[in-house]
Amino acid sequence: MASAIPHTMQAARYHGPGPALHLESIAVPAPGPTDVLVRVTHAGMCRTELHFLSGLLNLGIAPLTLGHEIVGEVARTGATVSEYQPGERVLVNYYGTCGRCQWCRVGQQNLCDRVVAQLGFTADGGYAEFVKASGDMLVKLPPHLDSIQACTLACSATTALHAARHIAPVQLGDTVLIYGAGGVGYALLQVCKMSGARVLVVGRSEAKLRFAQDLGADAVIQATQEDVTEAVRQLTDREGVDIVFELVGTRETMDHSLRSLRKRGRLVFIGYSEDQLIANPLLLVIGEIQILASVGSTPQELVDAVALASSGRLRQVIDRVVPLSEVNTTLQALQHGEVAGRAVLQP
Ligand SMILES: [Zn+2]
Ligand SMILES: [Zn+2]
Repeated sequence: MASAIPHTMQAARYHGPGPALHLESIAVPAPGPTDVLVRVTHAGMCRTELHFLSGLLNLGIAPLTLGHEIVGEVARTGATVSEYQPGERVLVNYYGTCGRCQWCRVGQQNLCDRVVAQLGFTADGGYAEFVKASGDMLVKLPPHLDSIQACTLACSATTALHAARHIAPVQLGDTVLIYGAGGVGYALLQVCKMSGARVLVVGRSEAKLRFAQDLGADAVIQATQEDVTEAVRQLTDREGVDIVFELVGTRETMDHSLRSLRKRGRLVFIGYSEDQLIANPLLLVIGEIQILASVGSTPQELVDAVALASSGRLRQVIDRVVPLSEVNTTLQALQHGEVAGRAVLQP
């Protein structure tokens, strides 16, 4: 049985752009009739949190508890929620959608026109002891899927599934370049390998590239020591790759990505920075290059990610598991590129 629920809890709160999150004691949220109160056991840490602190991502909502990769146990259910019992282990889909707009009706909830709640973006998220979520945002976890592995699925693996299956479907025999060796990159690498692609991974850190090799990368390119475009040409008989998944989005990486594509190649933006995309249209026209973008995922993609992870086919690289009190030092480590894979908070 679930233990008693306190009135207050510790949370790491965002108060606008600045150097750090604030560790505070705030009220435990009260679930409405269709909600579930989840006792957070694990919350994955994502570069999104750095974008909040730098001001790149500013939705004008503060104070706000960040954290959108959430696993926990059901603590209390609203009056009309019947499918969950206290103590059940659940993964929380951070993206609560309306279910009625033109996008939701065709199963493309990631583009919902009337997003109800985006935990960790517009509503309080998982960097806290408890989080409130609508009952239809939860996915039950199979008993043999580890909570630490599971929490990071909610953002990185689902993003990878959406990009590689829906936006730029990866085909048997494709050569794919993954620009950025982090949580999303590792998930993309595994999904692309499952689809029968040859996968090249670009990164800056030796440790991160070693993980990429462990996960099956066919070749890795060290961006600080190699000319990325030339390395790609050499690895592809000077053809270039069919797809680049761009997880960084700086001026330099966008330029390398465009120049690494073969004719009819697809550049898929997932990551972004403050830099602008600058491309001579001639370069695009002569190769019929396509520029695409991928955002988030659908609820079904989260269910699919859980199934892939629980069958052992999708492995998340976990760098460290830390208490809530270490949230800021861990964010700094993430900022400095010292986290290989995901860091996970244990509130
Ligand atoms: Zn994320
Ligand atoms: Zn909708």
